Amino acid sequence: VIENAAILTCGADDRFVPRGRIIVEDGRIARVEDAAAHAPECQSGSGDDGCSQRVNADGCIIVPGLINCHTHLWLSLLRGRLDDLTLFPWLRALAPHTGALRRREIFAATYFGIGESLRSGTTCLCECCRYAPEVTARVAVDLRCRVVVGGMPPSEWFGEPTSHDYAGLAQTTRETAEAHRREPLVSFWLGAHSLYNCSPAFLREAKRQATALGGDFYLHLAECRDEVDAVHARYGRTPVQHAADLGLLDARTVAVHCVWLTDDDLELFRQTGARMVHCPVSNAKLGSGVAPVTAYRSRGIAVGLGTDSAVSNNTLSMFQEMRFAVLLQRAVTRDAGVLTAAEALHMATIDAARALGVESQIGSLEPGKWADFVVVRATVPGALTRDVALSDVVYAAHRDDIEAVYVGGERVVERGRLTRIDPADLRARVREGVSFGIG
Ligand SMILES: [Zn+2]
Repeated sequence: VIENAAILTCGADDRFVPRGRIIVEDGRIARVEDAAAHAPECQSGSGDDGCSQRVNADGCIIVPGLINCHTHLWLSLLRGRLDDLTLFPWLRALAPHTGALRRREIFAATYFGIGESLRSGTTCLCECCRYAPEVTARVAVDLRCRVVVGGMPPSEWFGEPTSHDYAGLAQTTRETAEAHRREPLVSFWLGAHSLYNCSPAFLREAKRQATALGGDFYLHLAECRDEVDAVHARYGRTPVQHAADLGLLDARTVAVHCVWLTDDDLELFRQTGARMVHCPVSNAKLGSGVAPVTAYRSRGIAVGLGTDSAVSNNTLSMFQEMRFAVLLQRAVTRDAGVLTAAEALHMATIDAARALGVESQIGSLEPGKWADFVVVRATVPGALTRDVALSDVVYAAHRDDIEAVYVGGERVVERGRLTRIDPADLRARVREGVSFGIG
């Protein structure tokens, strides 16, 4: 039982409980109760009355665990290398670094990235690797973070063929998924890098393999004007039209970025039920633009938030992402009424879960869902209203304000420290991926 906190459920009834408790059983949420309406069932915390552990969260706000819908943790150790390039020159400059990465470096980068994500309140993330999804799965289970992981390789790199073997990636993904069949922390998908770095035949094959795996299909789409121009020059279509022509757009497709869409493109999203991920900080930093997500949301399209990689963000903080999502929409539209704090929190929780197709399991504090949540110390004293609690979480909260993070009912972060690993051990693992048998 975690009690005496203000609770924002983000569920179907979108409740605010000014002073309540969350009762966790077997890793899942049993109930969210208003303390004023329900007397506590157990007092001692000794276990005699069926309650094995009580946590006093007085002065805190509890929100569902934040869900980062798009990141590339395997690039985490390249942070700070490429800060001042627009997307296409940035990708070209990144290529020599990524081509040289070995599995043990990916392992180290993933340790670093998942550690940072958990410590900033992210309890589930969508990792987009090139290959080696088993590395992400291994680190996620070790540190206890929920991950939705898949490879999105290119078949060429700005016109130059690459050596990516899609059949090999699909096989590894199938085997890793089979090995984790009983592990609720990890799930798998397949994808492809983008329309400008993948041939039509490669994209069709990637979509076919994703469907055969039974998972979703991921693609970077319509990220910058250069992409729109490149796809138009090659195929005479918008990126979204080209994706639809290839049979890539349907309800199992997750398109990342979607900055440059026409009204017809949006209609294709609405008709097909394809989902979207919005990465406002990365899009701004790379000079790609600002996706008009308020227009997307008003059409009923599922839009989740993502940080993108530590090379283009450069933090993995979903608190920062929520804040920027609001600030950029308002700066561009010159309308302080668009995208509220409540909507931003939903885009990082329940809408993010919808975007990843995991809303039946996580994304809100409702009975039956996994007990994934963040306990944030309120920065304002006294009793909280719903609006002040939302404002505090979205506009003021910072990683340092996190009291605890829970995944499946287990406390994985306590006052800034990971509970599953000593900070010195984590640093050692990041330094020496090799010592874990990863070659
Ligand atoms: Zn990306």
